[in-house]
Amino acid sequence: MAERMWRQHDLKPSYDVVIIGGGGHGLATAYYLTQLGVRNVAVLEAKYIGHGGSGRNTAILRSNYRTEAGVRFFDEALKIYETLSGELDINMMLSQQGHFTLGHATGTMSVLTTRAELNKALGVESVVLSPPEIKRMLPDIDISDHPRYPILGALYHPPGGIIRHDAVVWGYARGADRGGVHIHNGTPALDIAVENGRVAGVVTPRGTIRCGKVVTALAGWTSVLCSRVGIKLPLVTHPLQAMVTEAYKPWLHHVVVSANLHMYLSQSDRGELVCGAGIDGYPHYGMRATLGFLEGFAAHVLELFPILHNVKVQRQWAGLCDMTPDYSPIISPVDEVDGLYLNCGWGTYGFKATTASGLNTAKLVASGEMPENIAAFRPSSWTA
Ligand SMILES: Cc1cc2nc3c(=O)[nH]c(=O)nc-3n(C[C@H](O)[C@H](O)[C@H](O)COP(=O)(O)OP(=O)(O)OC[C@H]3O[C@@H](n4cnc5c(N)ncnc54)[C@H](O)[C@@H]3O)c2cc1C
Repeated sequence: MAERMWRQHDLKPSYDVVIIGGGGHGLATAYYLTQLGVRNVAVLEAKYIGHGGSGRNTAILRSNYRTEAGVRFFDEALKIYETLSGELDINMMLSQQGHFTLGHATGTMSVLTTRAELNKALGVESVVLSPPEIKRMLPDIDISDHPRYPILGALYHPPGGIIRHDAVVWGYARGADRGGVHIHNGTPALDIAVENGRVAGVVTPRGTIRCGKVVTALAGWTSVLCSRVGIKLPLVTHPLQAMVTEAYKPWLHHVVVSANLHMYLSQSDRGELVCGAGIDGYPHYGMRATLGFLEGFAAHVLELFPILHNVKVQRQWAGLCDMTPDYSPIISPVDEVDGLYLNCGWGTYGFKATTASGLNTAKLVASGEMPENIAAFRPSSWTA
């Protein structure tokens, strides 16, 4: 009989570490904790692993960020992805096909140029391309002045690409399970028990689990649970939508993102065009796809690629994003509650961080020391 990817267990009355949220970040943290020798660990997932953004994202990876802390952290994440299929023994179909960020305004081009220079200085491949250079790599793109926002140039990042998101979730889940982690699907955390300023346990419908350390890896649901223990976070939850078309012959060989038009697309190995846009403009917790998103995306993509006028949409979906005001994530212990650690604020871009986020969160929880690569992600009000 084939080996199960992860096993079911009875809920133990106590664990050393309880991770709340069975997305990529929670599961990766669990896996790396086992690598660091911490084995009495549970992951609690309200629905099923990958139910959140980790199973709904458009799977884009890149590391060409704008701040030094961002570049170093996302570069660490991408480098781990490069060897992850082998490490976890599951084919994640990593495709480092190159990533375009198009610019349609002079202000954007100036930001893209600054990013290219910072990236190069930190050893990350990124280069600004002119419209004819873009056209050579994307033959069907319209670089004329006909579109409402003509293309002025692009930031091109050769190591960027895509990977199969479900395989990342399942790979970390199996790795964690093999290391002894108990993964409990269908087990929402209702509350975090705090005694004398310390974490004492997690309350679930299946009973209260005693534990000394809790990691919340809840993305869009973080503020809901944290408000139960009086922690107010600078997070606002917005839906983000995506869609895929029917499968077509291989046509698009790079990831294309338009910074100004808030749209992006890539082509999966199955031939579907995987498409996304910006967050819905109003905060809420609904995960329903809308016609407004489809119409907006179609209008923008046809300006860039008129050849797509006849493609057929197969399905749409939405997920939740935990947006911070400065677009920086939070990985941090909580000063008010000993033993409580936050991993959140991943917004629209956290899938590509899963690897380094899990590794560094595990190091923080196991050692109590803040790893250098995530020091910038501790809220300043807690470091004063
Ligand atoms: C449509 C879309 C496209 C995206 N595209 C990209 C992309 O191309 N590249 C990229 O880098 N990022 C992308 N993102 C963002 C990325 O998906 C997220 O930042 C990332 O997956 C967050 O992972 P996570 O593990 O922190 O949270 P999640 O994967 O959201 O996991 C949180 C889990 O917590 C569970 N949960 C909630 N409440 C409770 C509770 N009380 N108790 C227990 N469990 C609970 C949820 O069911 C969920 O499974 C996209 C997001 C969306 C929605």
